[in-house]
Amino acid sequence: MPNTSERTFIAIKPDGVQRNLVGKIIQRFEERGYKLVALKLVQASKNHLEVHYQDLKEKPFFPGLIKYMQSGPIVAMVWEGLDAVRQGRAMLGATNPLDSNAGTIRGDYCIQTGRNICHGSDSVDSANREISHWFKQDELVDYEFANKVWLYE
Ligand code: UDP
Ligand code: MG
Repeated sequence: MPNTSERTFIAIKPDGVQRNLVGKIIQRFEERGYKLVALKLVQASKNHLEVHYQDLKEKPFFPGLIKYMQSGPIVAMVWEGLDAVRQGRAMLGATNPLDSNAGTIRGDYCIQTGRNICHGSDSVDSANREISHWFKQDELVDYEFANKVWLYE
């Protein structure tokens, strides 16, 4: 049985929110068939973001990345469905939008790596870590997805 309950953490970064792309980004995950499990608008603290990006703390761009991520509210979300982590990354496009294919979120809506409007977990392990970092257990909503029988055989 394929795992239709895989979860990924997707975030709309401050530039995505300011550029009014929240609806369009959510729409792509909805239209693909993924199930929304959690969603909130948050102004993240410096410490929260440093933990989120802990694997990148030695990178030269790290201070700029934290400042960028703190520059305004972020839409934090959890999406669920078959292959959600890998498909989420594919829907976002490459880290550098100049390398992102047209038809991906980054390929369609942004230009530079340092303003690439969205985040997606890069593995199931990081998804689990990021989901519990951004959401309390009771913020992950358990409900029956009406579309399920039309999405999965
Ligand atoms: N980033 C940057 N400069 C770089 C590489 C990354 O500003 O040279 C930023 C960019 O916003 C990216 C984030 O750091 O999305 C996290 O980097 P990662 O390599 O994890 O890319 P992602 O997983 O977001 O595609
Ligand atoms: Mg990453």
